[in-house]
Amino acid sequence: MQTVDVGELSVSAYHTVAPGWILDALAAVADRLRGARVLHLSATPYGGGVSELLRSTVPLYRDLGVHATWKIISGEPAFFAATKKIHNGLQGAPEPLTPAERVVYEETTRRNAADLAAERGFRDWDFVFVHDPQPAAIRSMLDVSAAQWVWRCHIDTSQPEPETWDYLGAFADDYDATVFTLADFVPPSLPAPRVDVIPPAIDPLSPKNLSLDDRTAHAVLNWIGIDPARPLITQVSRFDPWKDPLGVIDAYRLVRDEIPGLQLALVGSMALDDPEAWDVYRMISDATRRDSGVHVFTNLTGVGNVEVNAFQRTSEVMVQKSIREGFGLVVSEALWKNTPVVAGRAGGIPLQVADNAGGVLVGSVEECARELAMLLADHARAAALAAAGHQRVRRHFLLPRLVLDEMALLDGLAH
Ligand code: UDP
Repeated sequence: MQTVDVGELSVSAYHTVAPGWILDALAAVADRLRGARVLHLSATPYGGGVSELLRSTVPLYRDLGVHATWKIISGEPAFFAATKKIHNGLQGAPEPLTPAERVVYEETTRRNAADLAAERGFRDWDFVFVHDPQPAAIRSMLDVSAAQWVWRCHIDTSQPEPETWDYLGAFADDYDATVFTLADFVPPSLPAPRVDVIPPAIDPLSPKNLSLDDRTAHAVLNWIGIDPARPLITQVSRFDPWKDPLGVIDAYRLVRDEIPGLQLALVGSMALDDPEAWDVYRMISDATRRDSGVHVFTNLTGVGNVEVNAFQRTSEVMVQKSIREGFGLVVSEALWKNTPVVAGRAGGIPLQVADNAGGVLVGSVEECARELAMLLADHARAAALAAAGHQRVRRHFLLPRLVLDEMALLDGLAH
């Protein structure tokens, strides 16, 4: 089992950006957990929201005196094909695992469980956070010591396919606590003794969110073939059908005649645990081959955190046309940079785009096109929405609040 190297963060650096009461409360709860050993287990060290979160939360735990470690499970492509199917089933796709896929899922998990149990110090963990469905079954396969186990579900389980939830939910039963992003995501049948609702957050000090002056941002985009002098709309997300990239292309085509020179960028990452991404990438390439206004980028062609930062700053509007969405960190990332969003009315997105702050929620391609055209034409309204969205992110969706909520949960389990 691989341990992921992370950098260092200092909580004192957040005093300039995060609300003071959150930092005070965080210091108090961290004090009670000082010296605790916390293991985070997930499926991939890059690509997607969970790795984005852990890369920042783990160093912050450490700075606060808690021994946090992040480990990655391993598996063959057949395992990740099965776990993506579970992910899709939990988001409502009508395709439960076949018996053979269940065997692959459980056998691979058993191997990961044995690897973890064989590690020195395995019995010393005080808390184990298991992220998402990929490693979820591991708890049921370990004869564990005194650790408290938390299953952290990041995906939109508001309307799960019943057979998939019955299967996965049985593994969730073994945990001391479960955490979901929204109360609406908590399946009614969940018997875990403690269910918490904790939304994720962005790290304002990561390279993706650090401030970047316009000149640098424009130079970064110029370098990869975007003309920063022309209007730009962008969607940043894994290449996943639930993010509806083809719907974004359709909306762009409806709106481009009204906005001369409009460019669309689709920036997507290929996560280790997401075998569907290549199929979606091919569909997008086929759909846009003859369209010089559409640019498609991936993390494999050098578009990383700084480029995403530049896209989120330079675009007139960010699009996130999700059909299902756990949270959608990209929404808060855009708002933090004072860029408004046009986003799907799905999952965790309305939590971020609410109270007339941040942008506009949409439910169809036509609505998306209409709202894009209006925001692209009305700069004053776009700026006002974005400024309100920035404040909302500052209050609710910055890293110290997330670590505070997580530590409060651990404190509650321990005392
Ligand atoms: N991301 C990225 N490059 C990409 C696509 C996505 O860095 O090409 C990042 C994005 O900035 C965000 C995370 O991956 O931090 C995606 O998280 P989100 O919650 O939006 O969606 P998820 O992938 O977890 O469904």
